[in-house]
Amino acid sequence: MKVASVLIPLPVQEAFDYEVADDLVLERGDQVAVPLGPRLMRGIVAEVRETTGSNRRLKAVDSLLDDPRLPPGVMDFVEWAARWTLSPPGEMAATALKGLRAPRPRPERRVQRVEGRSPARPTASRSAVLDALGDRSMVVADLARAAGVSSGVVKGLIDEGVLQVIEIEAVAAFDRPDPDHAPAALNGDQTASADAIASATAKGGFSPFLLDGVTGSGKTEAYLEAAARTLRADPDAQILILLPEIALTQDLIRRITARFGAAPAEWHSGIAPPRRRQVWEAVAAGRCNIVVGARSALFLPFPNLKLLVVDEEHDGSFKQEDGLVYHGRDLAVARARIEKATVVLASATPSLETLWNAQNGRYVWLKLGARHGTAVLPDIQLLDLRQNPPDPQTWLSQPLREAIGETFARGEQTLLFLNRRGYAPVVLCRACGHRLTAPDTDSWLVEHRYTGRLVCHLTGFTMARPKHCPSCGAEDSLVSVGPGVERVEEEVRQLFPQARTAVFSSDTVPDARAARALIQSMVDGEIDILVATQAAAKGHNFPNLTLVGVVDADLGLRGGDLRAAERTFQLLTQATGRAGRADKPGRAILQTWTPEHPVLMALAAGDRDAFVEAEMAEREAATLPPYGRLAALILSGENAVAVEQTAEALAQAIPNAERLEVYGPADAPLGLIRGRRRKRLLVRADRDVDLQGFLRAWLARVKVPGSVRLTVDVDPYSFL
Ligand SMILES: [Zn+2]
Repeated sequence: MKVASVLIPLPVQEAFDYEVADDLVLERGDQVAVPLGPRLMRGIVAEVRETTGSNRRLKAVDSLLDDPRLPPGVMDFVEWAARWTLSPPGEMAATALKGLRAPRPRPERRVQRVEGRSPARPTASRSAVLDALGDRSMVVADLARAAGVSSGVVKGLIDEGVLQVIEIEAVAAFDRPDPDHAPAALNGDQTASADAIASATAKGGFSPFLLDGVTGSGKTEAYLEAAARTLRADPDAQILILLPEIALTQDLIRRITARFGAAPAEWHSGIAPPRRRQVWEAVAAGRCNIVVGARSALFLPFPNLKLLVVDEEHDGSFKQEDGLVYHGRDLAVARARIEKATVVLASATPSLETLWNAQNGRYVWLKLGARHGTAVLPDIQLLDLRQNPPDPQTWLSQPLREAIGETFARGEQTLLFLNRRGYAPVVLCRACGHRLTAPDTDSWLVEHRYTGRLVCHLTGFTMARPKHCPSCGAEDSLVSVGPGVERVEEEVRQLFPQARTAVFSSDTVPDARAARALIQSMVDGEIDILVATQAAAKGHNFPNLTLVGVVDADLGLRGGDLRAAERTFQLLTQATGRAGRADKPGRAILQTWTPEHPVLMALAAGDRDAFVEAEMAEREAATLPPYGRLAALILSGENAVAVEQTAEALAQAIPNAERLEVYGPADAPLGLIRGRRRKRLLVRADRDVDLQGFLRAWLARVKVPGSVRLTVDVDPYSFL
């Protein structure tokens, strides 16, 4: 008897077994319909095996679906990713089918001549239509426009039987990229890097690279040249470039289109579902060579993936924390290993994990030295707020104000950077000291002046700013404390009423289109002073930007999060890297209360090596990543007692293990979200400990009640 193990998108750790009828030929990766209870479900065949007589009676596979088989690389990848993240394999597999579940694009309705039929009354406008159409087929509106008539004329010809309507399946054409279309002129470092990467793709086998170069050193040109050489050697090669933010995709797509004379396919949540289906099918059929996408593009069914690039690899946005919890960069390296492909991690400020791998020779370390062209790194100045405190209720110190004024007077641009959305991060009552929080959470309400509302950035809860304190009832007692980007912009507008200002945050720039528009107006010089959260500190090239002011450089140094220092360094390097990218020298001013902090001193010195060395030493002393590994178990539920009891049960059931510690259970830093109590256990293990094996053995000992949700986060990033 033949038995198939089928992955079904359910929150269980195993595949389901089904009998396979003798006349049904199934292979790993096939999509099938299988009965589950009263329903038929879509599943993916993980394995087909012969068994000799089973005492279990199995249900049979209902049918083989008429959808493409997932290539072996995707199947191996999905199963590996599920094991690595302790996620249900069926749900991981369903991620790989996302594009396929979208509706097909609607067929296009066009008109064409009916052979041998002519209009009974050939008016001038009817003749114009027939002339414009010729023997092609056209969409009615296009035809009417081409003929200079109303669409009623075309419809009259349809009614008369002179024209007929046909439906054409919308097939997406992905033009072949031409590696010789418009090669870029490369410097020595870029050429050497492209050579190394392209030799690896030509040789085949898993090859990981770190492409390390300061902002503006030309990393993109280098990896695109490697892509071109890969395509020259194998015109069917497929290349995936991952970006952390949708806002960055348009610029890269433009550059790829200019370089190769053909637009790449685009894959992220901003793409309409029918289009995603076209991309999925084209990738599966090998009709699409270059894909630019977000982390979920890792699950696309590439049959011939040769080169994978993770641009801005240090960016925390690669970590997915909703639903399936995984790190896009780490999974990209795994996919490359499984596909025996080349993977390039590119960054101006690589993550400590990646640097560690490069230092230890696991990754080939490619360095791009000098900046491309004539630009130089900006001059970074630490501004001690103890000596230059801003006036009460303002946030910009006198020297920074003067610098903005000088920059504005020269007709150049300023970027003020503050990683806090909204107007004021805290609203509190002067009368009783009450801090306004969202209902059922410990999270503060942030004031947004544009909308006049108080917003919880964690749950999305909003309310109008109340007149009375909800705690003591005092009237007009609420005050806004601290600055957000909107408040800094208000200050700038008062200081420089003639300057054109704008705010760049996820509130003012809700989607990719808005981001593109704002970036373009900055490039076009329509903005003098841009106040931005970290959304703007990413890879954009503003040639007339010569001053970056960091309003609160201390912000990231607080907070007790493993990567706070690293993230601050990255953000500030990226943000100050914005200044003076073209031919104008830039400068950066960092406002700080702690100019003696080693991280800030290393930054001001532009000394990445000093920073990395100091931070690595601290991590090594504590055997924290990259010297050790972490995993978090997060329990949440509305029933606080059940959450508490489950956390205690887990704490009692910790398996014996060496070189590994478990901390907690503790309240998660935000212990209450949307009315759900959250508890966290944190595991720290030495690098050589089988962390996943430990977690599996541990979880097998405890039954988690249905009212409590358990989330496993391997290599946690956010400590919320
Ligand atoms: Zn009060």
